[in-house]
Amino acid sequence: MRGFSAEMQRVLLMGITCCAIGWINGYLAWTLIAGGVIYMSWTLNQIRRLDQWLNSNHQSPPPNATGIWGDIFDRIYRLQKTHRREKKQLQRLVNRVQEATKTLRDGVILLDRHGNLEWWNRSAQKLLGFQDTDQGQALINFVRQPRFIKYFEAGKYAEPLTMASPRGRNQQLLFQINRYGHQERLVVVRNVTRLHRLESMRQDFIANVSHELRTPLTVVSGYLETLEDSQDLPPKWHAAIAQMQTQSQRMSLLINDLITLSKLETEDSDQGQSPLPLKPLLEGIVLEAKDISGADEHSISLKCEQNPVFLGSEKELYSAFSNLIFNAIKYTPARGQITVSLRQDEKNLVLCVEDNGIGIDAKHLPRLTERFYRVDQSRHSESGGTGLGLAIVKHILRRHDGRLSITSELDKGSQFTCRFPLTRIVAASTKES
Ligand code: ADP
Repeated sequence: MRGFSAEMQRVLLMGITCCAIGWINGYLAWTLIAGGVIYMSWTLNQIRRLDQWLNSNHQSPPPNATGIWGDIFDRIYRLQKTHRREKKQLQRLVNRVQEATKTLRDGVILLDRHGNLEWWNRSAQKLLGFQDTDQGQALINFVRQPRFIKYFEAGKYAEPLTMASPRGRNQQLLFQINRYGHQERLVVVRNVTRLHRLESMRQDFIANVSHELRTPLTVVSGYLETLEDSQDLPPKWHAAIAQMQTQSQRMSLLINDLITLSKLETEDSDQGQSPLPLKPLLEGIVLEAKDISGADEHSISLKCEQNPVFLGSEKELYSAFSNLIFNAIKYTPARGQITVSLRQDEKNLVLCVEDNGIGIDAKHLPRLTERFYRVDQSRHSESGGTGLGLAIVKHILRRHDGRLSITSELDKGSQFTCRFPLTRIVAASTKES
């Protein structure tokens, strides 16, 4: 028998022995007290030995002891050994992780909960110029650009941030931040200069090609218009000229959309943004939409009880909202219903364009804002669209901190919802009936 019960048995035996001796010598109480004192002294002595051993370097085996104290010493010793073994294993693992991250081409930085440097690998040192003595310094002391500080402090790390390196050298760095533990952060820094260069080449190429195509297309369209009006044209040519004109108009729309997209991609997003009352902008677009609907007589209504003054680019917002509203007309049969509503909830300013038109199958929704994504070829050629409209809308919303969500059901209708943060509203809305 081990442990506490064995000890209790021993104490009981000692008590009985003391009683027997006390009964024989006639000093029962004194004998019991003497037995108790001996037991207490022995216990205190074991506590002293344990204390001494714990204060020593712990490497030596525990002192020999009998009874429950022997058990306690053994158990503590075994626990210590396990703990030491686990610590070694853990240290080995940490060393291996550190060795592995050292060889990574991406910079890895560990920050404490206050955003101060705790650990970083060699690539981070090269990319951001840390010194060994910088431990404990705030990361924003090294990356001081306002864009980074805003991103870092906002704490919304779903999207990475790409920007010029704080050390110049024409480098572009991508920062990806992840939270872990108790508000600590892990920052991965990647040198994306080559990718960025390729991306700019692609953007320049599209912008240049679109600009170069514009002039010859204007000449072709001009001649086609002249030919159409010409009296000498043989009648069999009329249909061909009309078709050529339709195609050249389509091409012109495509080129304009490509130029718009490449401008949105390259220009600074703050450019041209100023306070703008949204209600008159929407009223203007709705009027235009009624014109476009013409003989199709769609019922287009605008629900906008307030007139928020929004910080944004008039040209871009016109383009985004008109794309959504004109699409609703394009993809809703004659006399269909289109509702444009602007409202404010707790977190967002919400603009919704709803129609009861042909709708979109759910499988297409995730890819709808990709350039040239087509739901199906027949609907695309009928509508005469460029396939770039929603890509433009997505870009514009992103430049205004907004996001687009789409819900739709085939043959029932669609709902395109733009949500902007309330921080974009620069003046209190005026309530209007
Ligand atoms: P497009 O110029 O072809 O209209 P968009 O990028 O504006 O290009 O739209 C992409 C596709 O999304 C369209 O081809 C169309 O099939 C679908 N779509 C857009 N808006 C609507 C809508 N309101 N109802 C149904 N389908 C729509």
